[in-house]
Order: sequence, then C-alpha cells, then structure tokens
Amino acid sequence: MATAPAVSAKTDFDAVVVGAGFAGLVMLHRLRGIGTTARVFETGSGIGGTWFWNRYPGARCDIESLEYSYQFSEELQWEWEWTERYATQPEILRYIEHVADRFDLRRDIQLDTRVRAAHWSDAEGRWKIATERGDVTARFLIMATGCLSSANIPAFPGRDSFAGKTYHTGRWPHGGVDFTGQRVAVIGTGSSAIQSIPLIAEQAAHLTVFQRTPSYSIPAHNAPLAPETVRVVKSDYAGFRQRNAQQPFGANFPPNMVLALQTDATERDRVYEQRWQIGGLGFITSFADLLFDRNANETAAEFVRAKIRAIVRDPAVAEKLSPKQVIGCKRLCVDTGYFATFNRPNVSLVDVSETPIEAITPRGVRVAGVEHEVDAIVFATGYDAMTGALLAVDIRGSGGRTLREKWAAGPRTYLGVQTAGFPNLFVITGPGSPSVLANMVPAVEQHANWIADCLAYRRDHGIARIDPQPAAEDAWVGHVNDVANLTVFPSCNSWYLGANVPGKPRVFMPYIGFPTYVAKCDEVAAKGYEGFALS
Ligand SMILES: Cc1cc2nc3c(=O)[nH]c(=O)nc-3n(C[C@H](O)[C@H](O)[C@H](O)COP(=O)(O)OP(=O)(O)OC[C@H]3O[C@@H](n4cnc5c(N)ncnc54)[C@H](O)[C@@H]3O)c2cc1C
Repeated sequence: MATAPAVSAKTDFDAVVVGAGFAGLVMLHRLRGIGTTARVFETGSGIGGTWFWNRYPGARCDIESLEYSYQFSEELQWEWEWTERYATQPEILRYIEHVADRFDLRRDIQLDTRVRAAHWSDAEGRWKIATERGDVTARFLIMATGCLSSANIPAFPGRDSFAGKTYHTGRWPHGGVDFTGQRVAVIGTGSSAIQSIPLIAEQAAHLTVFQRTPSYSIPAHNAPLAPETVRVVKSDYAGFRQRNAQQPFGANFPPNMVLALQTDATERDRVYEQRWQIGGLGFITSFADLLFDRNANETAAEFVRAKIRAIVRDPAVAEKLSPKQVIGCKRLCVDTGYFATFNRPNVSLVDVSETPIEAITPRGVRVAGVEHEVDAIVFATGYDAMTGALLAVDIRGSGGRTLREKWAAGPRTYLGVQTAGFPNLFVITGPGSPSVLANMVPAVEQHANWIADCLAYRRDHGIARIDPQPAAEDAWVGHVNDVANLTVFPSCNSWYLGANVPGKPRVFMPYIGFPTYVAKCDEVAAKGYEGFALS
C-alpha cells in the first residue's frame, strides 16, 4: 500500500467516495445529509468528471440541459439558467462548479488523488484504501468512478511512434488545440467524433476520418433556450421530472405507442420526418416496436440512411457513412452538421471496416499499405465502459478475492449497486443498473438517494455490514439478461457489450428500463433491503 503522506490529517471516515463528477458530488451531499463523515478522492485536478476531462471541440450533452441536471434542490433548479437546448461542456462544468460552491462541497474533496487499491478487512469491518497520496480507512466505499471515464486507445502497432501530437477526446488539453493549417486524423466515429469532426474540419487544412463502424446520428437542432420553454418547465419542475422519470430512458423522449409495422409507409415517414425535425435522441421512440423488432427497426434505419444519402453529395461516401446495424443498438448520436461535413473539399473518409488500421507510423496512419500523412491524431476511440474505471482499482473483498477475478466472465451485481462478497462496497450507476441507457444525472441521483437511505437504515438498525445474497445477485443478473434479450440491443458490437475492448467479456451491461428499475429499488428498500444480507 502507498507510503506517501496523506494530504488530510484525518485518515478514517464513515465513507470514502471515489470520483468527483455528478455522482461523487451528489453522494457527498446526501452523506452529509444523514450525518455521515465522508471524503471524496478524485484523480483529476478539478471536479466535474466527464465535463472536466472532455474538452474537445463541440463537446456538449445530448440530453436536453433542462433535464441533464440535478433535482435534489428546488432552489438550484430555479436559480440556474441554462442558455442552450444542449449545454456545452464549459457551461456544464460551470454548473457543476456552482453546485460545489453553493453546497460547500469542496472542503471534503481531495483532488489530484487517484485511488489505487481498496481491500476489505473482515476482521475490522472496514475498507483499507490506498491512494496515491496516502492510506485511509472507511466503513463504506462508494465508487462514483463513472461509466465513461476510463479512456480507451486501441493498441495499434506503432502507436507511440507517431512524431506529431496525439489526443484522446476524453483527455483533451485544457488550453484547447489549434489545428489551423494542420493535417489531422480522427480515428473513430462514435458520439465524441461526431460532435468534434465538424469543428475540427473548419479549422484543419485537411481532415481524414478513419471509420470502422458508421453511426446513426440525428440532428440536434440546438438553439438558445426560449424563455417560454424555461418558464413552462420551471413552473412545475417537479412534475416535469416525475413525468420524465416514468419514461423508459428517464428522459423526455415522447413515447408513441403505435407500432411501425402496423403503420403504412407514408404515415411512418411522416412520423420519422417530424421526429427528425424536432431532433435529438427522441427519434428512437418514434414507434413502440423499434427496439424490439428488427423489421420495425429497419424502417427507422432506412429513413436515416435516406437522409444521409440526401445530405452527402458523393454517393460512395454516403454509402460508407450509412450504418448497416440496427439503429439504437450502438449509442445513438446527435449532431450538428456531421454528415454535411463530408461534402467539404478538405475532408476525406477512410473505411477501415474491412482493411483495419495496420499501424500508426511516425508520419501518420497506414491502411491497406497506404500511409495517410498527418500532423496530429485525435483518438475518438471511446472508453472501457462501465467496468474499466472499477477494475483499474485493485479491489479485494471478503477473503481477499479480487473484483477482477469475480468479474472475469463479466460484471455481476445486485441492482447494479453492490456485488456479493464485497461488503459495504457501493457502485453508482454500476453494471446491471440503467446507467448509460438513462438520462444519467437522474440515474446518478437515484443511486445516491438509495445508497444514503440504505446507510441511514443500517445506522438506525445497528447494522455493520451490507452484502448482497448470492441468490439475489444471480436472479438479478439473469433478469438483466432476459430484459436485454427481448430487445435489439445485444444484436451488434457495441460498448454496451464491451465489444470495443479486445478480450473484454461479451456481456450486456446496462439494465433496460428506468421506471421498472426504480420501482424495484424502492420495493427492495421497503422490504427491509430484501436480497441483501445485513449483519
Ligand atoms: C463526451 C460525453 C458526453 C456525455 N453526454 C451525456 C449526456 O448528454 N447525457 C447523459 O445522460 N450522459 C452523458 N454522458 C455520460 C456521462 O459520463 C454522465 O452523464 C455523467 O457525467 C457521469 O457522472 P459520474 O460522476 O458518474 O462519472 P464521471 O463524470 O465520469 O466522473 C467520474 C470521476 O471519477 C474519477 N475517477 C475514476 N477512477 C478514479 C480513481 N481510481 N481514483 C480517483 N478518481 C477516480 C474520474 O477522474 C472522474 O472524474 C456523456 C459522456 C461523455 C464522455
């Protein structure tokens, strides 16, 4: 364990929280609310998590700002003014900083401190936690380490030989990057690429995009928020939140109960066109069967492909940009001018689906024997999602068993908040919870509330140790899979399945259905934390 002196004089806490993004902050606030002493450790030199790290051009949320925000304080909801339909990264970071100041959270947050290991002591009933800056102990360990925080850069041969500058979208330099006059490569075409490519193309002398799998993307139609929209939401913010929480993704994607396959083609296209004009992720709820029936899904997929063909002038490029997988099974993207960017004379597309990137060379990127010379490479290659940040910490539970060993065939949790054999360890938006298939700020808040309530319950009932019963965990893992298998989600190689990281077990990680999930969590709590062993 680490030997460097701790920054804080205090080294024993009721709870240690790892991570100071949306999750860590609200968790700290809730812990204080139940009188629990807590310390938050954060690797970064600032708070904000995703919104601290992802400073690439065009970074913004794709859940609308009025929803992608905390609801624990009515005053906060009222006083904060979002300026755009989809807030930019700087605006979201300002919001998080404001929350930290308004609720005086910073005094319990230690920055620049990565947690390296956490070992449970059966004898002492405490977690022994090794950070880069000293060791601490805590009765409870709460991992708020983020689903999309462990940056993934594939091990391309020669990756480190490149003579120019390289960047990962999720580790963007704070001062920004000026690509003026440069030849730039962007590797990857997921959400971050789709947001950044149009802006990088405006600056660069030439932009070459390396695409393995094209993404479906729906226009954002981003705009300043109309005062009337804000007034209507704020006049009943609680009601707005409640109604959204009842929707499958915990976000205001207006459901349409009609089936695509029972609708004639003209009417179907009218509905798709209407959703396209509204813009955003709500496109996926255009019809009730899109995520359950491949034939229904194909009608939406083909609508988007037709849009791509209409926007992109070169038919060969349009074809390459047209996804073949079912729509929604990889994270749906939201863009501003993405497809039209490929009409620019300074943008080219290299399809690496069949001829993968052979190597990064000192001068560029080599594909099928052709070296594409560039001055800078942007890796928009995403994350080791959901489990990456958790498994990067050497976590050992009861009897010294490692989390890595327990999850060797894929993550196993009860409700996505705990994993059997790791007493008093909680995970916020862990695998097996709606997490990345929900509006994540409400999902994070629901977990923080549930964990705080659970800890208050254990205090009131003199309970020292909370650990899921293996049978409850097995049943939950089975249920998560059963639900996923009813949908089209497992049908393609997505990061929801861990398919973007070589060697990662192929397991569908998020739970589909926010309202059902919340009801289950509430029921478990109401039944005295049914399925958990409390002692
Ligand atoms: C570019 C981008 C756009 C997104 N847009 C949306 C959106 O529109 N809507 C949506 O719902 N979700 C979106 N997400 C998902 C987003 O991650 C969540 O919405 C939310 O920010 C997660 O908050 P968090 O606190 O759980 O995790 P994070 O914000 O990832 O914070 C986790 C923190 O833990 C720290 N950490 C990790 N390991 C350690 C360790 N061992 N020791 C110390 N600290 C550690 C990390 O440094 C990080 O700061 C987006 C994600 C990305 C990457």
